[in-house]
Amino acid sequence: MKIAIASGKGGAGKTSVTASLTRVWDAPLVAVDTDAEAPNLHLFLHPNMEESRPCWLSVPQMEPEKCIHCEKCRDICSFKAIASFAGRISLFPDMCHGCGGCFAVCPTGALTPGQRELGTLETGTALDGSVRFLMGRTRIGEAMTPPLLRQEHELLASMLEAVPADALLDAPPGVSCPAVTVTRDVDMILLVADPTPFGFYDFRLAHQAFLPLDKPMCVVINRAGAEGNEEGDEAVRAYCREHGLPLLAELPFERKAAEQYASGMLLADISPAWRERFVSLRDSLRSLCRGVSEKESVHA
Ligand code: SF4
Ligand code: SF4
Repeated sequence: MKIAIASGKGGAGKTSVTASLTRVWDAPLVAVDTDAEAPNLHLFLHPNMEESRPCWLSVPQMEPEKCIHCEKCRDICSFKAIASFAGRISLFPDMCHGCGGCFAVCPTGALTPGQRELGTLETGTALDGSVRFLMGRTRIGEAMTPPLLRQEHELLASMLEAVPADALLDAPPGVSCPAVTVTRDVDMILLVADPTPFGFYDFRLAHQAFLPLDKPMCVVINRAGAEGNEEGDEAVRAYCREHGLPLLAELPFERKAAEQYASGMLLADISPAWRERFVSLRDSLRSLCRGVSEKESVHA
């Protein structure tokens, strides 16, 4: 079971939900930070990192003497990483997505694979070794995250194949390419809704953006019950009812909890009541996933 914890914006609480779910998970688990531009799950889980490997993207480099200026490479590149000026081919490797198209169409072998460093993939263990940990981190200055996230996904697949486990993925915030790259490969998406006006707008945006992926989605409201924000809570509940989104939990706004969380403490460790909230959320997620896979096997 692979679950992405996502939100339409940063600050909704997806990392704190991921970290606390990790704490109460009672089966083999890989906790994955896929927020590669600003990973912070490790700040809560304090993993022992064991390995860091660089990630590379295969980008074209040119042997000019072999180029016959046919411009086939420029024509096939959807990302404007190849241009033709005054009969000369120019390459912009920072814009390359590594699709390989230009290599395939070049009739003379003038393009050869070079490498662009994307960042690192780091692995280790957390919570006294009980949880495997995986984190992607983009290189400073690297503009493109999806190629690194695809490599992180492949590494996760090999980790799960070597030792079967569930996976909780702290997804990138927002609804752009990184978030979609991560959420399209999971079994379920847990949307963390922040019931403020901005948060509610972004929550709806996330739901609408992920709908075409045809993945089961469910919701947890974070910071529910804040004084004076009853309308915000009710707006999220009404949206969930209207769209058939299971609302699995409402995590209450508590000043003391916010203070302890700000000091790096896991919400699930704050008190027995907080732990029970995450145990209940874990059980609801699991039974929802089980229901989905049973339905799929009936239809298969
Ligand atoms: S590998 Fe693909 S994206 Fe990169 S330059 Fe070639 S055609 Fe463009
Ligand atoms: S496809 Fe090859 S030969 Fe044609 S312009 Fe590009 S690099 Fe030159």
